[in-house]
Amino acid sequence: MKFGGTSVGKPERMHEVATLITKDEESKIVVLSALSGTTNALVAISNALSQGDRDSAKSQITALEVHYKKFYSDLLSTPAAIEQAAAITQEHFEFLHIILKISFSEALNKDILAQGELLSTKLFSVYLTEKGIDHLLIPALEFMTIDNYDEPQVAVIKTKLTQILERNQDKKIFITQGYISRNSKGEVDNLKRGGSDYSASLISAAINASVCEIWTDIDGMHNNDPRVVKKTVAIEQLSFDEAAELAYFGAKILHPASIWPAQMYNVPVKLLNTMEPEAKGTLITEQAGSVGVKAVAAKDGITAIKIKSSRMLLAYGFLRKIFEVFEKYRTSIDMITTSEVAVSLTIDNDTYLPEIIKELEPFGTVEIDTHQSIVSIVGNEIMQTEEVMEKLFRSIKNIPVRMVSYGGSHHNISILIGSSHKIQTLQSLNVDLFGLE
Ligand code: ADP
Ligand code: ASP
Ligand code: MG
Repeated sequence: MKFGGTSVGKPERMHEVATLITKDEESKIVVLSALSGTTNALVAISNALSQGDRDSAKSQITALEVHYKKFYSDLLSTPAAIEQAAAITQEHFEFLHIILKISFSEALNKDILAQGELLSTKLFSVYLTEKGIDHLLIPALEFMTIDNYDEPQVAVIKTKLTQILERNQDKKIFITQGYISRNSKGEVDNLKRGGSDYSASLISAAINASVCEIWTDIDGMHNNDPRVVKKTVAIEQLSFDEAAELAYFGAKILHPASIWPAQMYNVPVKLLNTMEPEAKGTLITEQAGSVGVKAVAAKDGITAIKIKSSRMLLAYGFLRKIFEVFEKYRTSIDMITTSEVAVSLTIDNDTYLPEIIKELEPFGTVEIDTHQSIVSIVGNEIMQTEEVMEKLFRSIKNIPVRMVSYGGSHHNISILIGSSHKIQTLQSLNVDLFGLE
């Protein structure tokens, strides 16, 4: 059971989490995120430090500390528990105050970002103890590891986690941190923003869980982005493939990579609402349940690269040479479209863009468009939806479209547009594809 930031972000929410995890007698691992707002605050502190602005970092640390003091005072009621929580909070904020005095590094940044999940789980554990709920806090840093390429490896996680569980067979409830991990150098690291979902899925795979429950602040995966479209509805059932596409292409409810571990080990995933625990939510399994369009999602921060060359005509091996450039810079390609004389592709990571452009230039003219968004229409056997293409093109008739892609799978049609057109596109798709005003 994984509980996200808003699910633990207020004392009364944490109380509710305790109720939810003790509703049945099943053994479980409970994965917690940081309290909502904390990771953003830690990112801001880290940024201030990296820019040498110690005063700003210091005042932000102090404000966060005030927040935690109020939080645990409201969470707990006995003096013993409050004293314990005060000691925990002091320990973590002492660390944050010490970093003001040492030089900034990437490793230190990761240590700063880890404080949120360390605090939330420790405070929750104090609360469970106060309530007399038997449990064990197991540090994620002892079993969650990523390799040289930042990839988590289920087999290693499985070995380490199994050992911990075997040593503690008398326990039924285990609490651990989402998001944080150790890297190949043994340093504290993380699974990128929103990574607690990924932690939960990896843990479910590693222990062959009967289910992976992702508890959040909405009643499941919706058909469209509820942050920008007014009327959206929850989807009852999705296949792993559909959910993976939606997560990867921008549905924020799931971390982009969070489906594959559960899918690989065939662990059903449920998306559930902490604020409305009785709501059905979304069930994600091998089966899609139904055919046709289920949802749309959008992913921002995309860069389109076009390589145009008349020499491409009849030139076998051309694409291989282009892909090798991206492979060399470990930059993954999301969308590809080709014509006889040009190929367009998209990336979501511009770190090596200048190097990539330089190496592509010998192959032809290279054009770059930044601030693009991929809008993906997702659904098992998507063409089974009546007039899906007609509805899609009607929706985007006034939008300048940069790329269109279908055929990579039977459950995704993607278009690339300038990000400034995203909201309008999502809204009109909601009307044309789902009949929701
Ligand atoms: P948590 O802190 O629990 O991990 P997140 O904020 O990461 O929660 O994810 C839940 C949020 O994702 C929702 O509140 C909603 O605004 C947003 N979201 C974006 N797209 C979707 C979608 N298609 N379905 C449901 N929620 C979505
Ligand atoms: N706390 C982390 C973040 O805000 C991880 C998570 O919430 O999933 O990104
Ligand atoms: Mg999240």
